[in-house]
Amino acid sequence: MRNKILAANWKMNLTASEAHDWLVEFNETDSDKSKVEFRLYAPNVFLSDLAKTQSLHIGAQNIHPSDFGAFTGEVSIPQLVSVGAQSALIGHSERRMHFLESDAFLKEKVDACCAHLLPFIFCCGEPLEVREKEEHLSFVRSQLRSAILHLKNTDLSLMTIAYEPIWAIGTGQTATSDQINEVHAFIREVLRESFGDSGANVSILYGGSVNSSNAQSIFACPDVDGGLIGGASLNASNFLELASSF
Ligand code: PEP
Repeated sequence: MRNKILAANWKMNLTASEAHDWLVEFNETDSDKSKVEFRLYAPNVFLSDLAKTQSLHIGAQNIHPSDFGAFTGEVSIPQLVSVGAQSALIGHSERRMHFLESDAFLKEKVDACCAHLLPFIFCCGEPLEVREKEEHLSFVRSQLRSAILHLKNTDLSLMTIAYEPIWAIGTGQTATSDQINEVHAFIREVLRESFGDSGANVSILYGGSVNSSNAQSIFACPDVDGGLIGGASLNASNFLELASSF
């Protein structure tokens, strides 16, 4: 049975009081919160406060693979765990694009999470020019090969994958159900080839302009196990409402 996960990625949004209000609204909204695992990937400065409530899985949007050292501005896994982070995002396209994170560096982060037994969501997905050349499957395969296919089967319980076509992130342009399921089924097959049945049981989330109008058709895709939600997660009730689409 694959876990159903709905993960909010606030990116670099909200102030401390807005983050507090979001959490109050999330906790006080009367809805069935047992259908899916809700996660919140918040800016590091809010993690400690958010984690205190223990009502929600709190994760970091980024980690550094080293445990400590001369990496000004970075935050390590032991530091994040010490303030309550329960998992991390790795390889979000915005990190790859704006901070030039290479496949090799992402592999280091994946390995660091495994060494610390920290669950992680590994993000992959192609840019528009790759999709237009219909090379998206080989592009995604190469992202997986570089960073996660070397893992041991015992590491797999820590891993979730998020497929996020870059052309659909924050653009309002969603992929069609056929486009989404094609890639999700492909990723599942790649994981099965490499790891057998435990690979095929890894949850694969979709991300890219998911909102209350398109969530139902996206979450109905047989290989979609949930969503990584940016824009539509900034309001707690909108985010919670997406769970009713499963
Ligand atoms: C994301 O932040 O990973 C994302 C998918 O953003 P959005 O939902 O805004 O496209």
